Parts: sequence; C-alpha cells; structure tokens
Amino acid sequence: MNAKGLSVWVGDITTLDVDAIVNAANNSLLGGGGVDGAIHRAAGPALLEYCRTLGGCDTGDAKMSPGFDLPARWIIHTVGPVWHGGLSGEPELLHACYARSCQLGVDAGARSIAFPAISCGVYGYPPAAAARIAVDECLRALRNFGTLETVRLVAFDETMGNVLKKALAESC
Ligand code: ADP
Repeated sequence: MNAKGLSVWVGDITTLDVDAIVNAANNSLLGGGGVDGAIHRAAGPALLEYCRTLGGCDTGDAKMSPGFDLPARWIIHTVGPVWHGGLSGEPELLHACYARSCQLGVDAGARSIAFPAISCGVYGYPPAAAARIAVDECLRALRNFGTLETVRLVAFDETMGNVLKKALAESC
C-alpha cells in the first residue's frame, strides 16, 4: 500500500536497505528488548559503544548513530511515550517522535526512512491511535521535506500491519 511515498511493510526492520531505520529505544539508549534488542543484535557491539556517548534521550526526542553492520546507513533512536491512559501527553510525545526523527534524518541527507510501530510493544500505546499519528506525521514530513522520497511503516506481524494499512487507507 502506498500514498505519496508512504507505505506499510510487514517484516524485520533490521533487514531493510534504506538510508535510515528508526529505533524505538528507551531513555538510556543503551539497548533493551523488542525492536531495540533486534537492532542492537543486528548492528553489532559497536552500536552500544557509540550509544554510550550520546548521553541518553528524552521521550519525544531522537538521536542518530551510524548503522554499523546494518544495511541501513543510519539509525535514528527515538523514545516513545509509555501509555498511561492518554491524558499524560502521550499523543503529543508520539507525534514528536515521528516529526523529530524525520527532521534528523532529512538533515543528515536521508531520502528513505523506515519506522517501527513506536510505543506499540511493551510501552502499550493503543495500535490504532498510534498508527493514525504515524501516518499523519510521515505524510506531513513527505509534504514538507522535498528531499525525503519514501517512508516505510514497518509492522513485525500481520495484525499491526493491518492496523497500519487501515490508517493509511483512511488518510487517502
Ligand atoms: P516500545 O517499547 O516503543 O513499545 P517495542 O520494541 O516493545 O517498543 O515494540 C514496538 C513495535 O516494534 C512492536 O509493534 C513490535 O512488534 C515491533 N517489533 C519488534 N521487533 C521488531 C523488528 N525486528 N522489526 C520491526 N518491528 C519490530
């Protein structure tokens, strides 16, 4: 499914040959479970050494590293909000994750960026609401940044893939 450079793909984000993949990291940036663990395993131990120099990351913000052993040239590490019911600024913070990640990627020269479903794993964000934010912000970035050509929203399973596809279809 594709709209103005935005598409949904189901699979392992670490395998993607794009300019930048986004990591759903935690505030320490020192690795964790889920997609964070998969990215650290695939990028190799040099990633952890590099991340130690970054000084952590605030929720809603993002920091970049090289991709090391990944096919992707860069990794954009962003920290999504933990879901506490939706009245603690979670939507604004999730918007900021997508916006800030796109800005950093574009500033570095990335033409293609792939995102996992930030906050939709252990951080517990309701998938449909998160998918709408992901689609909105990525379409906005594709409109605003002329050098950004493609953004891929990556789901690790078909269930999340279908949620993302629905949000994308509803935005068209
Ligand atoms: P968070 O802590 O932000 O919730 P998680 O890593 O727990 O982050 O989950 C975010 C999403 O990433 C979930 O939908 C999960 O299924 C997905 N995910 C886990 N591993 C991968 C992977 N290798 N590639 C793409 N998505 C993944």
